[in-house]
Amino acid sequence: MRVLPRSYLGDPVLRAPAKSVSLSFIRSAKFRRLIGEMFHTMRRAEGVGLAAPQVGLSVRLAVIEVRPTKHRPGLAALPKTVIVNPRIVRQSKNTMNDWEGCLSFPGVRGAVPRSEWIEVEYHDETGRRLRNTLRGFPARVFQHEIDHLEGLIYIDRMPDLKTLSLIKPRIR
Ligand code: ZN
Repeated sequence: MRVLPRSYLGDPVLRAPAKSVSLSFIRSAKFRRLIGEMFHTMRRAEGVGLAAPQVGLSVRLAVIEVRPTKHRPGLAALPKTVIVNPRIVRQSKNTMNDWEGCLSFPGVRGAVPRSEWIEVEYHDETGRRLRNTLRGFPARVFQHEIDHLEGLIYIDRMPDLKTLSLIKPRIR
């Protein structure tokens, strides 16, 4: 399967509000292929989420999958999820601080406050409209990916850029 070319910080596609996806596109073979390629690209990059603008497509679509890893064994797994035209309906005022990184800004991470829980509406890959409440790390991933559809990067949400850190390069 094809690994999609990624967009990186500085590319205007990451700063543009993305356009809604039409239901007829969701039902197309082209859409199914794109979803497969986005999951493949995300896994190859060891990410937990990938939004369409990160592969140069300014449409309101993202894929998410959280699997516990060697480095983060405590993560709660989130099965493969496709979110189309998402909208955060409600969210907690309470926020939690945690580290985030971004496939469009590799090698760097920072502490970002996010709502503890969100209620979100979106279409799934079959076009069905769903409403879900998410908490903790999955809620964080959803907020990060939905921000990409608004042209926002996690650093825009950091009240204090002093936590921005280089991830120590591995010596090979
Ligand atoms: Zn990102």
